[in-house]
Amino acid sequence: MWVAKRLDFRRRDIAFGLAGCGIPGRRKVWRQRVQNLWSPEGNVVACLSVRSGFDMVLGAAQFPERSEIIFTALTISDMPRIAEHHGMVPVPIDIDRTSASPLIGEIGHAVTQHTRAVVVTHLYGSRIDVAPLVEMARQRRLLLIEDCAQAFAGLGYVGHPDSDVTMFSFGPIKTATALGGALVCVRNEELRRRMRERQSRYPVQSTPVYGARLLKYAVLQALSGRRVYGGIWRLLRALGIDHDHLVHGLTRSFSGAGFFRRVRRQPCAALMRLLTRRLQGDHEQLEQRAAHGAELRRHLDPEIVCPGGELSPHYYWVFPIVVDHPAAVIKALRDAGFDATEGRSLEVVEQPSRGTGANANARALRAHTVFLPFYPEMTACARARMAAVVNRSVKVRGAGPAG
Ligand SMILES: *Cc1c(COP(=O)(O)O)cnc(C)c1O
Repeated sequence: MWVAKRLDFRRRDIAFGLAGCGIPGRRKVWRQRVQNLWSPEGNVVACLSVRSGFDMVLGAAQFPERSEIIFTALTISDMPRIAEHHGMVPVPIDIDRTSASPLIGEIGHAVTQHTRAVVVTHLYGSRIDVAPLVEMARQRRLLLIEDCAQAFAGLGYVGHPDSDVTMFSFGPIKTATALGGALVCVRNEELRRRMRERQSRYPVQSTPVYGARLLKYAVLQALSGRRVYGGIWRLLRALGIDHDHLVHGLTRSFSGAGFFRRVRRQPCAALMRLLTRRLQGDHEQLEQRAAHGAELRRHLDPEIVCPGGELSPHYYWVFPIVVDHPAAVIKALRDAGFDATEGRSLEVVEQPSRGTGANANARALRAHTVFLPFYPEMTACARARMAAVVNRSVKVRGAGPAG
């Protein structure tokens, strides 16, 4: 069984991280080093996570109560939640079904005198062209924030040069993960100064807890090899345990009580040290992923939509497809040894005042997306076979009645 997702690290990275947990101090030195590495311009704030960084941006910006913040309608639910915590009102903008980009025209309509910020989320490893938004944000004096958590593209790309804030995540399931950490570029000096000041008052993340986290993910990674995982998968199924749910729970950061207390921590020295190593590593894997993703797309029937598939660059952090009957396609794939999932992390940003008719495309994507297993360990032959299974299952279902 090909596991749904392989985490992007090697055993050597874990060993390096664990060694770092045993070396005392020098946190500020490592932080400075990783910040300079990411962008020599001195505008980077290294954070515990994107959620920590976003919380700091909004805390430092001090927008008036009930200010509106525009969001791409599909993102992880903690992002609008953080905005609400700061007294802001999230206003979702629907996305295009094919390109998974926000409907730029609608953003213009959604801006009111209360709007203060726009958060653009780059989904699935692709990159949206934010140039049209840069101009609009400047004219309307909005803070333009790019959520690049899924859009890591190697050292050298830190987001659009004219965005106000760009955020990259190195959390456990992300590309080049350090099992935590985020790098946030903030162009405005005063905003950046206030963020740093806030962060300096946070307690530092516990090094032993970070070490335990490294070990936990090392174990998960060891269990996700094709053979071992197949055995585990069958066992869980026999026991009636929903493996998707289990994996989601195991890989979710900051779940449970005390969200803001846990998000408001400074990253420890060992995390900064491992992040430095990850950034310096070779990222040729990225180009390979882009090429394999494009190839897999060609294997699939042209009527199967791969959201974001036409965007460039696209590094296929994940490989989503949109189908009429996701459950049937997932079943066919699992029977053939590919553990596809419907995905659980992205949610539709709700706006109670607009009723349930809003965000139709985001809702459709949320309901009809299947994530295919896709990572460097998969062979070309496996990818081709997987595409054939998808094509067949879509055809079979497509001919019959819906449901
Ligand atoms: C993962 C992710 C985040 C959160 O990143 P953390 O560093 O784990 O807080 C935010 N937005 C999107 C779109 C993500 O995929």
